[in-house]
Amino acid sequence: MTAGLYAARSRMNALLLEQMGFGGQLLTYEKVDNYPGFPEGVGAFGLAELVSAQALKFGLKTRNAEVVGLDLGGAIKKIILADGELQARTIIIASGASPNKLGVKGEAELTGRGVSYCAVCDAPFYRGQEVAVVGGGDTAIEEALYLTKFASRVHVIHRRDQLRATPVIQEKAFQNDKISFILSKTVADIKGGQAGVEGLTLCGVKDSQLSVLPVTGVFVFVGIRPNSAFVPAEVNRDRPGFLITDQEMATSVPGVFAAGDVRSKLLRQIVTAVGDGATAAFNAFRYIEDHF
Ligand code: NAP
Repeated sequence: MTAGLYAARSRMNALLLEQMGFGGQLLTYEKVDNYPGFPEGVGAFGLAELVSAQALKFGLKTRNAEVVGLDLGGAIKKIILADGELQARTIIIASGASPNKLGVKGEAELTGRGVSYCAVCDAPFYRGQEVAVVGGGDTAIEEALYLTKFASRVHVIHRRDQLRATPVIQEKAFQNDKISFILSKTVADIKGGQAGVEGLTLCGVKDSQLSVLPVTGVFVFVGIRPNSAFVPAEVNRDRPGFLITDQEMATSVPGVFAAGDVRSKLLRQIVTAVGDGATAAFNAFRYIEDHF
C-alpha cells in the first residue's frame, strides 16, 4: 500500500492488485506496538485503513484480483490474472508471505476445526478453554499473549530451550500467568475427530519421550514462506524462495521491483515494508522516466 501511495503521489498510472483485504498480514494482528509515532500502540485494522485511505486520496486505483503469473519477456510486462490479463511498464511485487504448516498428522484434517494460523480470527472460539501455540518467534509469542484474553491457559510449545522472539515480547509473555512454556518439544501429531481437536502428542527433542497434551485449539506459528509462486524463475530468489533485490528494491529483471515480506531481507516488520514500498515506487518512477 505504501508503494501504491508513493506511485500515486508521483502521478504514475498505478493500479494496486489485492486478492484479499487491503492490509494483508496486518489484518491478522490485533495491535501494532512498534510502529513509530504511536506510543500506546495502534490497532492493526485501523492502521491498514488509514494507509489505504491515504493512498486512495492520492488517486491510487485498486482492484480485487488474484495474480497467477507474470510474463516479463518484453519491455511491456504482462500480469496474468485468474480472470484476465493486464499490461504494465513496471511491476512492484509486494505479495508478502504466508504461514508455514507443521506438516504433522491431523493438521490438514483439523484445520478450521481446532487448528488455526490466526489468533485474531479464531481466539474468541476458545473462551475458557486450554489451547496450544506452536513456535517461539515474534508471531507465536504475540499471538499467545492475545489468546490469553480468551483462553483459560495457553501452552507455548517450542522446539528449543530458548525462544526466538524479541526480548521485550518474551518479557511480556513470561509475566503473563496464563501462559506456560513447554520447551524442547515438538508436535508429533494432532488428535481429534469430527468435533474438533482433542489434544497433541508431543515428543521430547532430547529424550524422544512421547506425552499427550489435552487442548481444544492449536495455533501454529512456525515461520513464514514467501508468496512468490506466481513469479517466474528469471527473478532471482534465495533458497526459501524470497525475492532477491538490491538496496533500491530492483530484482534481477529490469523494471521489476519487490518490497516487504516477499523480499529476502533481515527484518520483516511494517516499518521496513513501508520503507521498501516507498523506495520501490521511487525506483519504478525512475525506471519509467529512463526507459519510456
Ligand atoms: P520466525 O521468526 O521465523 O520464527 C519461527 C519460529 O517457529 C521459530 O521459533 C522456529 O524455531 C519455530 N519453528 C520453525 N519451524 C518449526 C517446526 N517445523 N516445528 C516447530 N517449530 C518450528 O517466524 P515468525 O515468528 O512468524 O516471524 C516472521 C517474521 O516477522 C520475523 O522476521 C519476525 O521478526 C517478524 N514479526 C515481527 C513482529 C513484531 O515486530 N512485532 C511480529 C510478528 C512477526 P527456532 O527458533 O528453533 O528456529
